[in-house]
Amino acid sequence: MATLSPQLKQATQVVATRGEGVWLYDEAGQPHLDFTAGIGVTSTGHCHPHVVAAAQAQVGSLIHGQYTTIMHQPLLALTERLSEVLPAGLDSVFFSNSGSEAAEAALRLARQATGRPNIVVFQGGFHGRTVAAASMTTSGTKFRAGFSPLMSGVVVAPFPNPSHYREYGWDQEQATDFALKELDLLLQTQSNPADTAAFLVEPVLGEGGYVPGNERFFAGLRERADRHGILVIIDEVQTGFGRTGKFWGHDHFVAEGSPRLPDIMMFAKGIASGFPISGIAASAELMGKAWPGSQGGTYGANAVACAAAVATLEVIAQEGLVENSAVRGEQLRAGLREIAAEANARTGVERIAEVRGLGLMVGNEFRDAHGAPDPATATAVQQEAARRGLLLLICGSWGEVVRFIPALVVSESEVDQALTLWAEAVAAVLA
Ligand code: PMP
Repeated sequence: MATLSPQLKQATQVVATRGEGVWLYDEAGQPHLDFTAGIGVTSTGHCHPHVVAAAQAQVGSLIHGQYTTIMHQPLLALTERLSEVLPAGLDSVFFSNSGSEAAEAALRLARQATGRPNIVVFQGGFHGRTVAAASMTTSGTKFRAGFSPLMSGVVVAPFPNPSHYREYGWDQEQATDFALKELDLLLQTQSNPADTAAFLVEPVLGEGGYVPGNERFFAGLRERADRHGILVIIDEVQTGFGRTGKFWGHDHFVAEGSPRLPDIMMFAKGIASGFPISGIAASAELMGKAWPGSQGGTYGANAVACAAAVATLEVIAQEGLVENSAVRGEQLRAGLREIAAEANARTGVERIAEVRGLGLMVGNEFRDAHGAPDPATATAVQQEAARRGLLLLICGSWGEVVRFIPALVVSESEVDQALTLWAEAVAAVLA
C-alpha cells in the first residue's frame, strides 16, 4: 500500500470524515474544534449549505470550461461579483488555482509591465512554494533551504516587525523607521529603482508570525513606489475576504482619501470556501501589458470553483462575516491575553510574549526563559490543545507562534469553548 510522502508534515493525527461550520468529525465520530480553517480557506465554515448547493448545482451543469478558449457563465458571474468588492480601479482579474500561482502571475505581470527585473520582498513574507514564489519567501528556512539556485532578482527588505527586535525594546514606530530607512538604503545600494519592478508584501505577515503592518509603513511604500515607478503588489492570499475584520487586510492601513495601495493584488484561500481558485487583480491598463498567452493554465477558473466563489461572496455579505470576524477576533484576543497574563504570572516569565493580530487572524508568540523564540513550547501547547479537541496551526520565523484562524462564521460560544481548551493546554505545558 502506498503511504503519504514525508514532506507532508501532519500537525495532528485527526482523519477528518465530515465538516460542519467550525467543526470537523473524525472516523470515530468525535468532534474537533477546527481553528485552522484549512489556513483560512473554509471562510464560510465547512460545507456551508449555500456553498454546497451552488457547487452541487454547478457540477450537474458544467464542470470545466478551459477559460483560455471557452468562456463560461460562472466565470463571468464571479468576475462581476468580485468587482463589487475589489479596491476601486482594480478592474481586471486573472484567475489561477493556488496562492503560489497568483504570486507567479503577479511577478510575471510586474516584470512585463515595467521591463525591470527585481522584486523587493519583506522579511518574514510568505508567497508560496513554487520555486519562484519560494524565492520571494523569507518566513522560514524550510521553504528555501536546499532548493538553490533560487530565482534571481529578489531583494529582501525589513518588515516593521517589533517581535524581531524585541531584545532592542523597539516598538512599532521604531521598527517602521528602521524598515523605511533600510528600504531607502537598499534602493540606493542593492536594487536601483531603474532595476526594481515591484514591492511584494503582505498586509499582515501570515506564515511569518501574524504580524500586522501599519499605515505609516504602507504609505511609505506607496510614496517610494510612485516616486520611482515601482509597482506595489499586495498579497491578500491569507488576509483577504474578511479574515482580518475588514474586507481586505490592507484596508486597515490606508487612511481615508489616500491613494490606493495595491497596483496588483493577489487573492486565494477564503474566496471559495475550500475550492481551489486564486488570482490577481490590477487595472485594465496594467493588465493589458501582459501579452496574450503569457498567463493561463488548464484548470484556472474552474466552473465549480467559480460557482462556489460566487456563493461564498454571497454568504460573506448576507451573514455579515466581515463584521463577525472583527467582533469575534476582539473576543478571542481578549481571552487569549487573559490566559497569557495568567500563565506569565504563574511561571514568573513572559513565556507568552505577545498575543497579536487583526480580526480572526490571531497569534500567540512563545519565548523561552531567556527570551529566545520557543518553537518547542509552541508545538507542545498546540499538540496538547489538539489532544483536547482544538485544532491549531503554527507559524513564525522559528515556528514560535501558535495561530488561531477559525472560519468567519465562528460563534461567541465556540470562541469561548476554544479559549477553555487553550487555557487547559497552556496550563498543562507551562505548569
Ligand atoms: N501567499 C500567502 C500570504 C499565503 O499565506 C499562502 C499560503 N499559506 C500563499 C501565498 C501560497 O498559497 P498556496 O498554498 O495556495 O500556493
